[in-house]
Amino acid sequence: MLPFRLLAALLLAATPAFALQRPAAEAPAPALELRGGLWFDGERFSPGSWYSIDGRLTASRPERIDAVLDLTGRFILPSLIEAHNHDAQSGRFGAISNAKNMHAGIFHSIQLCSRPSAREDYGGFFGQPGMMTVRYAEACLSAADGHPLGIALASSRQFGIEMEPAEARRFYDPVDTLADLDRLWPELLERRPRLIKIILINSERRAQELADPSTFGFRGIDPALVVPIVERAHRAGIRVVAHADTAADFAIAVRAGADIIAHLPGYRIAPGMNAANYRLSDAIVAEAARRGTIVITTAGVARHDMARRPENAATLQALQRENLRLLRDAGVTLALGSDDVMGTVVDELVYLDGLGIFPRGELLRRATADTARAMFPEAAIGRFAEGAEANLLAFDGDPTVDIEILRRPVLRVQRGMVLGR
Ligand SMILES: [Zn+2]
Repeated sequence: MLPFRLLAALLLAATPAFALQRPAAEAPAPALELRGGLWFDGERFSPGSWYSIDGRLTASRPERIDAVLDLTGRFILPSLIEAHNHDAQSGRFGAISNAKNMHAGIFHSIQLCSRPSAREDYGGFFGQPGMMTVRYAEACLSAADGHPLGIALASSRQFGIEMEPAEARRFYDPVDTLADLDRLWPELLERRPRLIKIILINSERRAQELADPSTFGFRGIDPALVVPIVERAHRAGIRVVAHADTAADFAIAVRAGADIIAHLPGYRIAPGMNAANYRLSDAIVAEAARRGTIVITTAGVARHDMARRPENAATLQALQRENLRLLRDAGVTLALGSDDVMGTVVDELVYLDGLGIFPRGELLRRATADTARAMFPEAAIGRFAEGAEANLLAFDGDPTVDIEILRRPVLRVQRGMVLGR
């Protein structure tokens, strides 16, 4: 779930107020010598020296060098990857979020609920030099009375607009029956998605919630539809990411074969629920490990629930620690995502560090190589290797000693181009 006011702004900002200019045609990246520096090797920072040719790293010295970047004394990390956000799903927000993320050294981002029609007018903006590379979940399947309908309705009301549910449903793909799925599917395939999202919320209380009008607009998809959706998606080579709130949602998604779980359970305790509803079992964690299910952390989202209900803070953090420890011990792949439209995945990294589960070197590897492989499996990003994209961030201090220094990169290089301040 997103902080209400923020999603309100996002949904209503679907039409940009100004035209986004396409940047000038790409100039060839210079041949760089990246001299000295301590380079992150997936565990620690150690001395190294690389060259960047045509935006790719190589250890072999080229004949011609256009410029030498002296990185002596600096700590070099691959650029970061955001696994779960909604901050680039509209033109107006996309422009702001691009600057925010690029400054923070986040060059790749996954946006988890967007239909292509919502971004026709700014589609060419991303992927250019100086811009993030963005991948979207091209469909967002939920119940006709499900999330994000409630947020769309409430947020439009906040802006003084009385929106009909039918109109609000254009923000996602409502599916209540197999017949709905049959109707949607050909159009969904035309979007040529690599990734689609399904919404599961409080599945174990589904009967009570259907009878409770206060949950209208905040429910999830019928759990019986999850297997048919995943099967169809996999036949078409599409990965499925499942929004899961509770441990029951998580279990349904994992057993149905969802590729990615969008949240670590325990970022909030919903009305009518208690801590036990969010505790993952050993059995389901073992199954996630066996199936290769990826879990996106979004642990920092708990800050919103903790701010509203400070009495929940200790419980939520204990739950998060417990669930993270289980997943880590079982070897489940974790990808770092913030789900925070005003923040970045750097906030998530710092929040996770505060939970004290991961040694910092490991956390940095999870934030770079692991998240890259999980979310952009075909891209040569997230690590320093022959032929990898020359994407790097330089810091004046060691992030394994001072995690907050991650907020202050002193130099950023994207595909061999040094970015301005
Ligand atoms: Zn989200």
